[in-house]
Order: sequence, then C-alpha cells, then structure tokens
Amino acid sequence: MFRSLHRKLVLVLVLLIVSVMAVVGTFLINSVTSYHIREFQSQMASVFTSEFILTLEQNAGDSGALQDMIEAYSASLGIDEYRCFYVLDGKTGDYLSGSDDDYGAQLVKTPNILTAMNGRVGQAAETLGEYFDVAIPIRDGQGGVAFVVGVLDDKSELQELNWNLFTILIRAMLFGLVVAICLSFLLSKTITNPVERLTDQAARIAAGDFGSSAGIDSNDEIGVLSDTFDEMSAKLETTLRQVEEERNKLGTLFQHMADGMVAFDSEGRLLQFNPAAEVMLGRRLEDTLHYTDVFPDVQVRQEDLAQDGRSIEIDFAAGSRFLKIYFAPIRLGADSTGLMAVLHDVTEQRKLDDSRREFVANVSHELRTPLTNVRGYAETLMSADDIDRDTQMRFLGVISSEADRMTRIVKDLLTLTRLDYNRMEMNMQLMDLRELGAKAAQAMEGQARSKDLTLTCTLPEALPEVLGDAERIQQVIINIITNAIKYNKPHGSITITGGTEGDRVFLRVADTGIGVPKEDLPRLFERFYRVDKARSRESGGTGLGLAIAKQIVESHGGTIGFDSEYGKGSVVTLYLPRAQKGADSHGG
Ligand code: ADP
Repeated sequence: MFRSLHRKLVLVLVLLIVSVMAVVGTFLINSVTSYHIREFQSQMASVFTSEFILTLEQNAGDSGALQDMIEAYSASLGIDEYRCFYVLDGKTGDYLSGSDDDYGAQLVKTPNILTAMNGRVGQAAETLGEYFDVAIPIRDGQGGVAFVVGVLDDKSELQELNWNLFTILIRAMLFGLVVAICLSFLLSKTITNPVERLTDQAARIAAGDFGSSAGIDSNDEIGVLSDTFDEMSAKLETTLRQVEEERNKLGTLFQHMADGMVAFDSEGRLLQFNPAAEVMLGRRLEDTLHYTDVFPDVQVRQEDLAQDGRSIEIDFAAGSRFLKIYFAPIRLGADSTGLMAVLHDVTEQRKLDDSRREFVANVSHELRTPLTNVRGYAETLMSADDIDRDTQMRFLGVISSEADRMTRIVKDLLTLTRLDYNRMEMNMQLMDLRELGAKAAQAMEGQARSKDLTLTCTLPEALPEVLGDAERIQQVIINIITNAIKYNKPHGSITITGGTEGDRVFLRVADTGIGVPKEDLPRLFERFYRVDKARSRESGGTGLGLAIAKQIVESHGGTIGFDSEYGKGSVVTLYLPRAQKGADSHGG
C-alpha cells in the first residue's frame, strides 16, 4: 500500500512540476521573444523617424550617403554580429551596401522588404519567424522607390537567450524533481503511517480484537477518520456482543427446549435441529439428511405456507410417539425461504385422552352389569305373580348385593376423584406401622380363617414412626390383606412382615395365592384393571382397590410395590418415609 501511495505521490508531484515548468517555460520564452520584438521595433521607431526618413530621401540619389547616414545610428539601431542594416535597390531589391556584406550577399527578400519595394514601410513582426526586420522605402523625387533601407535581426541572439533560459528551466525542473521525490517520501510517510496504523487496526477488528486503537492523535482528516474508526469499533463490539448474547440465549433455548425443532433450506436440506427433535423422532439426525428422509410421508406445499405465513399443523406418528408438527416458513436470505418444523410430543396427552375414554367406558361397563341384573330381577319380580317367597327373597338379595356393589364402585370412584384433586381430608399424625399392621391382621383373621387360610403377623418389636393418616393407611393395609385372601389358594397362607430400609419403613403382605402373570404386573395399579375379571367380581372387587391404595400411599410420600410369581403367590410391599425428628401431628 505504501509503495503504491508513494508512487502516486511521486507521479503527482512530477506531473505538477513538469506542467508548471512547461507553462512557465512557454510563458517565459514567449515573453522574452515578444519583449525582444517590441524592443527591436521601438529601437527602429526611435531611429527611423519621419524626419530621419525625409533626410534620407533628400539623399536618395546616393546609396553611399545613405549608408553613411544609417551607419551613424548603428549604436541606436543595435547593429552587431546578429543584426545588420542594408541599403537595397528600390526597383530590383538587390543588395547595394550594408553593415555586413557577406550577409547582405545572401539576403532574402523578406515580406517587409517586398512591402517597402512597393512603397510602404514594412514592419510586420512574426514571433515564430526565423528573423525580424524592418524595411523603409526611400523615395526618389518622382514618387518611385529609389532605395530600400532596413535592419534585419536573424534572431540567433534571441534563440541563444531562449536556449539559455530553457537549460535553466530544465535544471530547475530536475532540481524540483529531486526535491519532489524527497518530499514525496516525507509526505507519503506522514500520510501512510496513520493509514497503515488504521489498516492494522482494521485487520485486528476483522480478527475480533476490538480493544486496540490506532492511536492517531491529530486533528486532520486522518485523525477524524481514526476517531470515527474507534467509535465504529466500539459500536461494532457492543453490537456483536449483543448479537452473540442473543445467539447464545437462542442457542440454549433451542438446545434445551422441550419441543423439537428442525429447519430445512429451500432445497429441503437439513439445516439445524435440536436434541428434543432427535428424541421425538427416535433417530439420529445429520446434516446430510433431506426433508423426505426426516418426514417421509408428510407433504407440505410451499404455496400453502407462503400464502398467509401461518403454520400448518400435521399429526405425525414416530414409533410409539404421537407428534403434532407445525410447519412454518423461515426467511433465509433476500429471496430464499426455508421450512421450520416445530415438533410437539402429544403422546402423553393422547394416552391421557385414551385412558380417560377407557375410564369412562370402564365405569359405564362396571355399572351396567349390576344395573342389568337389578333391572332383570326387579322386572321378573314385578311381572311374575306365582313366585314363591324364597325365590322372591333370593331375587331381592341379588338386587340388594348389586346395589351394594354399585355403591362400592361409586364410593371408590369418589375416593379416587378426591385423591386426584387433593380434596381428601388427611388427618396427619405420627403413627406406628407395626400397630396398624397388627390391628389389620387381627381384623382380617376371621375372614382368613373362614377361607381356610393361615394369617401370620411377624412384625418386629418396634418400627420407626411414620407421619400419616392412620385411618387411610389402615384402609390400604386391609385392602392388601383382602386381596391376599381373595386371590389365595385353598389352605394357603398370608404373612405380614415389616422393617426399615434406609429412610423408609415398610410393611409387607406375602401370600401363597394364584399370583399375577408377569405381563399384567405393570398394569395392576390402573383403574379397573383386573387379571381375572370374573374372580374379582365374584369376590366383590371393584378393580379400584390398588389404584386407591397407590394414590393414598403416594400422597404420603411413599410407594407401593407388587411382586409376584404366577401360580405361586404375591408380595405387596408398602413403603412410607420415616418421620423426621420433631415431626408432629397436624391436619392435612
Ligand atoms: P379388585 O377389587 O379386583 O381386587 P384391586 O385393585 O384390589 O381390585 O386389584 C386389582 C387386580 O390385581 C385384581 O383384580 C387381581 O387380579 C390382582 N391382585 C391384587 N392382589 C392380588 C394378589 N394378592 N394376588 C393375586 N392377584 C392380585
């Protein structure tokens, strides 16, 4: 950069000097020539006055006399080796005499001589001609031109002078050029130094270093430029930092948002995606993928998107997941539009909807069976007159037990709803699981015995206290023991044990009953789920007992586990957190 600027500066200065010198030279040489001609003419005019010409004419008969008279004025006429005077024949223009005979012998008939031969004074001057002269006709008495006298300067003096001037000018120009080159070095240094510093600063800014200044402390244009540059650099830094911060925020949001995001360019190439999208689509995404690889059967027409700029909503199934995908156009440049897909996982919502539908269907189904029975028996009783008393009582017994069953279902449903909406009153207090277990065992002993089952309670001497609603927990334990009785085998046994496991206190009810197939285990706590519907119903079950138990235990911060070996028996364990020291009873 320096070199080119320097070269330009040298060129400008050289051009300047050469052009100034050319103008000055031309002007000077022209002036000198004009001055010389003017001088010549005024010299001639001062000698060749009309009186002097008249005097000459009086001697028109003798060229020698004319010669002498003019010679007398040699000094005034400036006659020397470059300038001569002559006397010519007025008719023929032949040279008669003069100051320089050699020159006179080859004297050319200048336009001024021809003018004088015609009777007029020839004094036209040509700046560019080879000479300048003046020619005066000397008339004879009869009006003819007897002689022509004149002075002719061959300009060699002037040319010599001009040549001297020219060489002086050339020397001055050469000197000027040398000075110009030296000056250009100095000038270019003072100009290029700050420019170089600004260039360095620009390079540093381009490399991301905004802190350094060019350090130019002057008030000229470069100084102003440097200040503006510093200002621009500071603004650029702030703006870039803001953009970076925004980008980081957006990037973090993009990476961690729960919804999946996938962006494609106008050609359908995958531009960007977030981890949530990979999870939802259940596959790894790579930049090499195309729209059709990611959403194989989803046709989104650009025209539809472009029309109102709104998103298009499409349901999409990815493996076991259900997604709602919102497609929206994104501007990627001046005239390029890409496609952004926002993936929303609606699997849980779907499951919830399904389970809600299933629940309503289950409730209807559960109530319909006893209702059908009630209706059937009631109608039979009403229509038949000849039913004996025993049959009537049996029918009424069925109606009553079905009514009980419906009441139980409705009661259990109400309990669940209350638990769902946290509307269940909990009387929280410190309680002893050992005591609750023993009490429940005692309460259920008769029922067990009636079914020919052995119920043993081998609880440890003491168990840490737990905080909870004793009545509800008792209800849960009884429910579990009831199940152990209901789903037992003849002569089977039920064992109640307990203990502590870390921070938890547990109560375990093990039976030697029919057990639960492995595949049913995960669904046992679902509402209305039963392994053997007929057996459950027969034994008065609603299919809601374990669901309620789970809800109650969880609302105490505990868990309930169900382990079973099909055909051999089941183990149900109730875990509750050990009460913190200082915990006291309070209503909940
Ligand atoms: P139910 O009113 O039908 O007993 P629960 O919610 O109490 O409803 O139990 C759900 C299902 O779990 C039962 O129908 C039964 O199939 C199974 N079950 C529960 N406890 C046991 C157990 N101890 N042994 C075998 N199966 C059991």
